[in-house]
Amino acid sequence: MRANPITATVDFDQEGTQHGFLKLPYSHDASAWGSIMIPITVVKKGEGPTVLLTGGNHGDEYEGPIALFDLAGKLDAKDVNGRVIIIPAMNYPAFKGARRTSPIDNRNMNRVFPGNPAGSVTEKIADYFQRTLLPLADYVLDIHSGGKTLDFVPFCAAHVLESKELQAQCVAAMHAFNAPYSVMLLEVDSVGMYDTAAEEMGKVFISTEVGGGGTASAETISITKKGVSNLLRHAGVLKGEPEISETVNLDMPDHRCFIYCESVGLIEYCVELGEDVTFGQLIARVYDIDRTNGAVTEYHSEIDGVFAARHFPGLIAMGDIIGVVALKV
Ligand SMILES: [Zn+2]
Repeated sequence: MRANPITATVDFDQEGTQHGFLKLPYSHDASAWGSIMIPITVVKKGEGPTVLLTGGNHGDEYEGPIALFDLAGKLDAKDVNGRVIIIPAMNYPAFKGARRTSPIDNRNMNRVFPGNPAGSVTEKIADYFQRTLLPLADYVLDIHSGGKTLDFVPFCAAHVLESKELQAQCVAAMHAFNAPYSVMLLEVDSVGMYDTAAEEMGKVFISTEVGGGGTASAETISITKKGVSNLLRHAGVLKGEPEISETVNLDMPDHRCFIYCESVGLIEYCVELGEDVTFGQLIARVYDIDRTNGAVTEYHSEIDGVFAARHFPGLIAMGDIIGVVALKV
């Protein structure tokens, strides 16, 4: 296969701290011989494990970039046993554009794996992760949140995997991250995901959904910073034990967890995120905004569980997710 066009200005084998870029040539109207410069930090000491940390897989999710720009500026190589590779904004053009997908090619980073070295900008970045960065890693954390259109209870997630041995390692890493909620995910549409690429290589992979709405709160940022530092301790890259407090274990086993909108209009939520709900409970009402005749569609929970995710903006469309009710386990 052809070589990836990205060059790193950092040397992954060098001891110490390096701040640099993944440089991707991108010729466009404003810069004929220009490049996209994706910030990266590598901190290495000795032969311990490698942890690969990413945010900004989707460009409108902010806890990951905040926690990782912070860590990149503070992590000292003398405290590290092994290597930490930090990329706060994986889909950098999407992050700069404050969009879920890239404004250059409109591609969703988490649906283009394994990528393509001769493809579009997003595909080229994915190919670099697939063939250069993921093979270096033992542990991989990809920090997501809801972006502009979703909001979540703050959780760390591991996937149901065919290899139960790898699954157990991922679950241990999820519990070390120790978000207020821990979720086992059966991915319904896993083709093209970074998650799947990492897991297929046998890497210990965890992800998060720590908030949403296209912003980040003091609480969700603190959950994320603690989780990152806990994972580094769990991996043995930083000294000390992870700081563990209570977590609520959730499962999203089947389609009954997901409530989809079958109307269009103005949404009134009747429950808060994190609230316990029961089978048949009213979750939300959607008003027809084209007339004042009282036309309202009501949406109910199909299971007993915890209200774990919701649509964020005030208006909702056909096929949008209204909410997710997760099972407590
Ligand atoms: Zn995301």
